[in-house]
Amino acid sequence: MPQSLQEALAYSDRWLQIIHGGDVGEAQAKQIIEESKNNFAEHFNRGWLEYRKSVTEAGDWACVEWKGSGAVFRDILGREYIDCLGGYGMMDLGWSHPDVVSAVRAQLQRTPMPSQELIDPLRGVLARLMAEITPGDIQYSFFAASGTEAIEGAIKLAKMYTHKNGFIVAVKAFHGKTMGSLSMMGKSDYRTPPGTLYGGPVYHVPYGDADAVERQLDICAKVGIEIAAVLMEPIQGEAGAIVPPDDFWPRLREITRRYGVLLIADEVQTGMGRTGKLWGVEHWEVVPDILAVAKSLGGGVMPISAFCANAEIWQVMMDPNPFIHTTTTGGGALACSAAIAAINVTLRDRLWEQAAQKGNYLLPRLHALAEKYPHIFNSVTGKGLLIGLHFKDSAIGYKAAAGLFQRGVLVAGTLTSAHTIRIEPPLVITQEQLDQVLDRLTDVIEEIARTHSFD
Ligand SMILES: *Cc1c(COP(=O)(O)O)cnc(C)c1O
Repeated sequence: MPQSLQEALAYSDRWLQIIHGGDVGEAQAKQIIEESKNNFAEHFNRGWLEYRKSVTEAGDWACVEWKGSGAVFRDILGREYIDCLGGYGMMDLGWSHPDVVSAVRAQLQRTPMPSQELIDPLRGVLARLMAEITPGDIQYSFFAASGTEAIEGAIKLAKMYTHKNGFIVAVKAFHGKTMGSLSMMGKSDYRTPPGTLYGGPVYHVPYGDADAVERQLDICAKVGIEIAAVLMEPIQGEAGAIVPPDDFWPRLREITRRYGVLLIADEVQTGMGRTGKLWGVEHWEVVPDILAVAKSLGGGVMPISAFCANAEIWQVMMDPNPFIHTTTTGGGALACSAAIAAINVTLRDRLWEQAAQKGNYLLPRLHALAEKYPHIFNSVTGKGLLIGLHFKDSAIGYKAAAGLFQRGVLVAGTLTSAHTIRIEPPLVITQEQLDQVLDRLTDVIEEIARTHSFD
């Protein structure tokens, strides 16, 4: 596209009017759909459109989302969907939670961003809240915008504190897509194309296998390769809601202590109540050395992430150079106001208990469905409202996702596992909506059983 500042000014003017305007009429809605398809194809990523087309198959693949509330959102034509994707774990509080929106709106009127030189109070408030809600003696936090930045920070902190370079991570792990986090990812499709990643040693072991972690640490000790930390998700999210054996995290804690390496919990997706405890590690009463959180920390309203550790470890962030780790736009006042409100709502409404109770309702029913159709399902996994439906193959997975979408339920595959669909609704989803999801899913599975040609 040739440079045209005139065009850009006029186009942004037009869209500011739409943003400021109320609901759009049908003719305008249809025009926005066409325009959005074109914008994505020509200026964002054509592949995303193709992907939508395949997952939603006969459904209306060119759906353009417009607004939402609770676990329900609407497209621009006013059709309703129950959200069982939850923004990949970012929507624990649901769409546009009014308490978060109102806090952010108020802070927006005051000041959205800090001077960077004076003390901005909200950053301090949020850091104290994090110290109060995280397990054990965790006391200090650093704020950024995305999950991957929190993991980058955790990696850097572990290296600075231990003066060591090695990491032990899991196969199928997901920690984000910037270079450091990507090095810790457990899937070749994403690690290979960018070429050389993190320069230090990174060892992948099977997830949930504490013996494998211990063996790797033992080998590294014997050959003199120094390990800074073991980095794991409490429950693997992108791998498809994989729950480790109950002794995994307690053993990780014991083994890492014994070998003098740090234990980092990536709570980006599991944190803030998703799995039925406020933190995933609390299922096993384990206190990690470093904890990373993002996604729902911003209440589904603002991007914000954090990595946190105790005072002893944090020393290297403060001394001798307190500016050793910084970011200009991350953890600004607007983002902090969202997180403060999100934490308030999470504690006030005890959202983790809702996740536990709703998961306990869904899981046995999903297990029963899977048992009834053993030629369609491999298994159902998960805890709380982080649930994976594992199908026999990805063709069935696509059909299930498409069938649900046609019936007004949004789900999606997982990044590291194509034949898996996640059920990850906002924790505020209602009982009635849960029953609707179950009914529609049963309907889809019956249809697949009738029409799919199984080999
Ligand atoms: C989503 C996710 C990340 C990365 O977060 P982004 O905000 O997408 O960068 C890291 N770790 C886990 C466990 C995640 O689920």
